[in-house]
Amino acid sequence: MQEFEAIQQFFTRPTHADLGIGDDAALLQVTAGHQLVISTDMSVANTHFFAETPAFDIGWKSMAVNVSDMAAMGALPKWATLAMALPQLDAPWLQAFAEGLFACANDAGVGLIGGDTTRGPLNIAITIMGEVPIGLALRRDGAQVGDDIWVSGTLGQAALWLQDKQGLIHLDVPARAQYAQAMHRPQPRWQLGLALRALAHSALDISDGLLADLSHMLKASHVGATLDWDAIPKPDTHRVVLSQQALAHAVLSGGDDYELCFCAAASQRDAIGVLAEQLGLPLRCIGRITASPGLTVYADGQPMTYTNKGYDHFA
Ligand code: ADP
Ligand code: MG
Repeated sequence: MQEFEAIQQFFTRPTHADLGIGDDAALLQVTAGHQLVISTDMSVANTHFFAETPAFDIGWKSMAVNVSDMAAMGALPKWATLAMALPQLDAPWLQAFAEGLFACANDAGVGLIGGDTTRGPLNIAITIMGEVPIGLALRRDGAQVGDDIWVSGTLGQAALWLQDKQGLIHLDVPARAQYAQAMHRPQPRWQLGLALRALAHSALDISDGLLADLSHMLKASHVGATLDWDAIPKPDTHRVVLSQQALAHAVLSGGDDYELCFCAAASQRDAIGVLAEQLGLPLRCIGRITASPGLTVYADGQPMTYTNKGYDHFA
């Protein structure tokens, strides 16, 4: 199979672009009164995923982590390009990869409008583009003193799957299956992101762990925060033997959650409660923005001594 055939067969689908795959570049029209929102996320074999991960899951997650960045900005995801290095043109692998990628892209209304294909160690870089009405993007520098801090979904499940995979903990079969789903099929919260344009001051998606990512927002907004350990949505671990330290590590620093963390005025509490009902997605208030800098997690009224912050590729 040749490169051109592979692109034609696996990656060319109808899109709402003026010109999509097949020319030297794509042509897009940005809706009047909107800003173009662009982000790139790269997934590298043996760094971001195990090479033996099913191709469908690699395709899904490569797209999902990009859609999640649009969600975090309050942007409507629209278009993507796919640059990939492949060790070989393996048709069944590409078929399953494309199915996963398009399953996620279709859910989010994203059209694939171009890319590049070369030979090399498996590496997938997607650039995603979306739109937001001018001035309404959810930036990291918008948190205000007194804001509530909210988080969607459950944190730490993907990290527990990884700890089990590494032999650090032992999950039973149902828990392993549930957390594998969290690791391999994250659900990007783009509908939540769109609704938060009207409700939140600031937002980001949690990819490197709650504490690490929230710290970025606090720094950009020149504020601090306190969190309540009991309020943070944690995995149901009643059947798992787990130290408090291992659970804290997964929930606070684990990464791969792809949930949204956002700040909103206390006056928005009822509206956020209604939104959670509408989306069928738990939204939990986990803390408060403070004027004094720093980030402290309280458990039973005492600061937790937990310090390990999050994943850093170069640490
Ligand atoms: P060029 O040599 O001009 O870069 P290519 O032969 O690399 O063109 O690509 C041909 C067309 O296929 C272009 O429209 C490009 O955007 C698209 N394309 C290449 N690889 C991919 C891919 N992995 N996914 C989607 N589109 C791709
Ligand atoms: Mg090219």
